[in-house]
Amino acid sequence: MPQETVGFVNLEWTCKRCGSKNPGTTKICSSCGNVMSETDKFELPAQQELIKDEAVIAKAERGPDMSCKYCGARNAADATNCSQCSADLTQATARQSGEVLGAFSDEKKPDVKCPYCGELNPATALKCSKCAGTLRVATRPVDQAKTAPPAPARANRVPMFIGIGVAIVAVIVCGLLFFRTTDTSAAVRGVQWQRAIEIMEERPAQHATWRDQIPSGATAGACELKVRSTQDQPAPNSEKICGTPYTIDTGTGAGKVVQDCQYQVKDEWCGYGLVEWTVVDSVVAKGADANPDWPVVNLRVDQREGNRQEAYVVLFSSDGKEYQMSVDDASELVKYVVGSRWKLKVNALGGVVAAEAAK
Ligand SMILES: [Zn+2]
Ligand SMILES: [Zn+2]
Ligand SMILES: [Zn+2]
Repeated sequence: MPQETVGFVNLEWTCKRCGSKNPGTTKICSSCGNVMSETDKFELPAQQELIKDEAVIAKAERGPDMSCKYCGARNAADATNCSQCSADLTQATARQSGEVLGAFSDEKKPDVKCPYCGELNPATALKCSKCAGTLRVATRPVDQAKTAPPAPARANRVPMFIGIGVAIVAVIVCGLLFFRTTDTSAAVRGVQWQRAIEIMEERPAQHATWRDQIPSGATAGACELKVRSTQDQPAPNSEKICGTPYTIDTGTGAGKVVQDCQYQVKDEWCGYGLVEWTVVDSVVAKGADANPDWPVVNLRVDQREGNRQEAYVVLFSSDGKEYQMSVDDASELVKYVVGSRWKLKVNALGGVVAAEAAK
């Protein structure tokens, strides 16, 4: 998904020695003079604000700061000598960058009360404007939600496994009931057959599809714009849809705010009318003998035959119990002479699985 730059924000870092928060652009703790080390991470500030300082933005775009091999101090990507110890920086290693720090929101945060003098300070302030006391120490505010989606609850998987287990047991039980059979001796009581032929007529029908897929000969109806596809590039009739902006560590003290965007391409979804062959009726013939016939169809000139369906059933009785068995073909029916005796395999649900002529 293409990433768009929304802007840049100032980050912060927490001094390991005294716990004070410091602006990302500074390299030395303003409270105790400790130098920010390679392992000190940049963090999102309580109040995020897009910055306009071109110099900070240009530096963020040049690449992550370099950590001096000798003193550990941060130096700009294009610096040649360490600003702390003057050491040559050609062997220096780049700070880690690219980590997603969290969702971007420039929503105004409430003022912060100084814990020392009670003065209200803007959420962006690191030190009290009245007494210079440190306003935010060490612990991170809890409301800075990371953009990473919450890990799926592991507990949800357990009921799913139980569900699958129950389903498997149910299938096995049904299978046992279906496949375990008992032998029963029975006599043919009769046979039944049914044959049907569908009657079709041309009738108007309503459908809907994309404008370019309306079949020829159809009458186009009303259309509406709907999303047809999603793509990375803009197109005519497309709408840009972007996710929540989030901030990436550039390794320079400034965060790059980006958002992932795609284009929803819209197209016309239209109703259309088409005259098509539709089943309007069916004629049925039934019988209780071994000579099935197709029903007589009297078609009007504007009608035609549709599908044909046929069904054949043999009826058995055994010690007062009735059984039914379907057979596929009309030619099968003649084998089941009324009164003839058969050995049936009957499953637990009372269905006849097989029949064999009794000797
Ligand atoms: Zn400090
Ligand atoms: Zn150095
Ligand atoms: Zn104060």
